[in-house]
Amino acid sequence: MNFKYVIIGAGLSGLTLAQKISTELNEHVLVIEKRNHIGGNCYDYYNEEGILIHKYGPHIFHTNHKDVWDYLSKFTKWNYYQHRVLTYIDGNYIPMPITTETVNKLYNLNLSNNEIEDFLKEQAKDIDEIRNSEDVVLSKAGKDIYEKFFKNYTKKQWDVYPNELDKSVISRIPVRYNRDTRYFTDKYQGMPKYGYTKMCENIINNPKIHVLLNTDYKDIIENLEYKYLIYSGPVDYYFDYKYGELKYRSVKFELETLNVESYQDEAVVNYPNDYDFTRITEYKKLTWQENKKTTIAREYPTWDGEPYYPVPQKEYLDQYNLYRNEVEKLKNVFFIGRLAEYKYYNIDAAIKSAFNLFENKIRGLD
Ligand code: UDP
Repeated sequence: MNFKYVIIGAGLSGLTLAQKISTELNEHVLVIEKRNHIGGNCYDYYNEEGILIHKYGPHIFHTNHKDVWDYLSKFTKWNYYQHRVLTYIDGNYIPMPITTETVNKLYNLNLSNNEIEDFLKEQAKDIDEIRNSEDVVLSKAGKDIYEKFFKNYTKKQWDVYPNELDKSVISRIPVRYNRDTRYFTDKYQGMPKYGYTKMCENIINNPKIHVLLNTDYKDIIENLEYKYLIYSGPVDYYFDYKYGELKYRSVKFELETLNVESYQDEAVVNYPNDYDFTRITEYKKLTWQENKKTTIAREYPTWDGEPYYPVPQKEYLDQYNLYRNEVEKLKNVFFIGRLAEYKYYNIDAAIKSAFNLFENKIRGLD
């Protein structure tokens, strides 16, 4: 087979590039995917009850990039869902992230936004240089909130306490001196109306895009003639683990369908201190589906299983940098996405970086 462009991985990074190459460059492109489906970790499917399940955990789309929103809007309609999360603390369900509502509910207070700001600043620890994820919370909200909301959740999620994790991890969660209890405040938020898989099918609905599922690219690459390779698989696998295996945190899901219409008050409830799971997702609340039953997923972080999260600890980032040096030497291979760049990308950032790769490199190739 002969293709000018071959893409490894049918996640959103790979599919976005396939779409751009086929429509804007008018070229054929082959996408090779190891799994039996497209969509990467955004993949969703309907279970026996007809409830749409995100196989690899809840994926909520949110972005401030208008170009990313407009792009995806060509392939899906949206439910204008705005995500809210509750955290189970000492028997109460408390809004997450940390807002005026959170602090008032946690301590049974009735303070104004300004008073909450003063309150949190009083609790906060003076830290000159924020070095890790523990410092992030201590410097904004103090020890009690750190211990109740973050310390044990992070230990479950990453198997280390926040003081060993890069500050970028918990910086994802804001502290707000207002009553906005949404998890994200991006201008554009929503869930693909017919699911991510359907949206992905629409992205690649072009006869110039050829998808090969159930295929490890290493099994066939020698029989392919191609000019450019776009790689979104694990970077260590590409280099045959020459600098060792990179660590990825994985998640196991315990799915259960219950004979009740509603299980919990929001789509996601976090359990930092109780049980061994980190959170419970009730899928139909994400997707606005109506059904007499409901399906929930309890998430158990683990070291075995599919790679989900690159681990932002210094030793693994250093190890990744060894691979990155090799990546930079390659002229006709482009690395993109969470696994290939060992980077904790959100959906919109993955797509934005595919746009950038296309505009800055791919478009100008002969
Ligand atoms: N986190 C926490 N308590 C929570 C929610 C999040 O300690 O109730 C920390 C945890 O370390 C987590 C990080 O903040 O990995 C980022 O959370 P986010 O919800 O963005 O994680 P994701 O949805 O990507 O798994």
